[in-house]
Amino acid sequence: MKALVKAKPEEGLWMERVPVPEIGPDDVLIKIRATGICGTDIHIWNWDDWAQKTVPVPLVTGHEFAGEIVEIGRNVDDLTIGQRCSGEGHLIGKHSRQSRAGKFHLDPETRGIGVNEQGAFAQYLRLPAFNVVPLPDSIPDEIGAILDPLGNAVHTALSFDLVGEDVLITGAGPIGIMAAAVARHVGARHVVITDVNPDRLALAGQVADVVPVNVGEEDLKDVVARLGMKEGFDVGLEMSGNQRALDQMVETLVMGGRIALLGIPPGKSPVDWSRIVFKAITIKGVYGREIFETWYKMIAMLENGLDVSRVITHRFPVDSFEEGFAVMKSGKSGKVVLDWA
Ligand code: NAD
Ligand code: ZN
Repeated sequence: MKALVKAKPEEGLWMERVPVPEIGPDDVLIKIRATGICGTDIHIWNWDDWAQKTVPVPLVTGHEFAGEIVEIGRNVDDLTIGQRCSGEGHLIGKHSRQSRAGKFHLDPETRGIGVNEQGAFAQYLRLPAFNVVPLPDSIPDEIGAILDPLGNAVHTALSFDLVGEDVLITGAGPIGIMAAAVARHVGARHVVITDVNPDRLALAGQVADVVPVNVGEEDLKDVVARLGMKEGFDVGLEMSGNQRALDQMVETLVMGGRIALLGIPPGKSPVDWSRIVFKAITIKGVYGREIFETWYKMIAMLENGLDVSRVITHRFPVDSFEEGFAVMKSGKSGKVVLDWA
């Protein structure tokens, strides 16, 4: 089969022929129809320090996918051939205290497809049946292919009650933009999204009814005053990984405000902890998606009016994957989807 492989420990990905994976008794084989390119895949392409420490070579990359089940292991009795699906790309262990308590997303032995294990940028993917999430007919393949990052957005946005609250999202990348759409959908009052990239802010405005703020040009405190928020934002969703964005968030949050942190800062970064203490701020780190509560909630919301389709700005047949990666790297895109059908 064709697959996008990290074949050499250097910059790039290569389209290669590799064997179709063999499935075990608890697995299914999925014929891939569409995949999303993630920031993680760009790190793997670039072969940065993180990728060098994390990714074994050779490896089939990719973890955002939608497809169709074409083969079923002998122990699998709740899935059928022909079922359209996406799936959780975090392969969890079953031995930790968290896992045995049903908190699968907190299992410390988690391994990621396309990062530690063979991935989804291929014509076929082997996946434990446990990880499969069936897709209703109303969710097209290309949305199925971005449920992983939408799940990050949903997991983060639903960390705190947003109903009637003023919400600040820092970072208008695909995940920040989708989180803004979710915050709107669940009934936030003001949703402000910041970035320093005007293209990303323009896209945010097309996907959701939000107030885009270019913090390179405008003072966030002026926006708080303009919108008539007396004391600041109630909830912050950090989705940039940028130190200054977190500082601004702490600065413009109400006393007792809440922050969910999804963005990954590069290495250790200084934080003004005394400010956080004196403002009595609650901070929650967010990793991945809740398995499978996030999947349940996001599919329910998509079936009931949540629309993130415009976050997909580019589509390419998989043979043009190099163009897809170039667009992602340019910062002038939302989600980029590769078509494998
Ligand atoms: P992205 O890189 O596409 O988006 C980040 C955005 O932040 C960019 O548009 C960038 O211009 C913007 N930004 C830079 N400086 C800023 C500033 N000072 N203020 C506001 N915005 C600023 O990333 P993404 O794919 O949307 O993912 C969002 C973040 O979440 C990334 O940091 C990513 O690594 C992280 N992530 C975490 C998890 C997890 O499980 N915790 C999963 C997926 C992604
Ligand atoms: Zn991803």
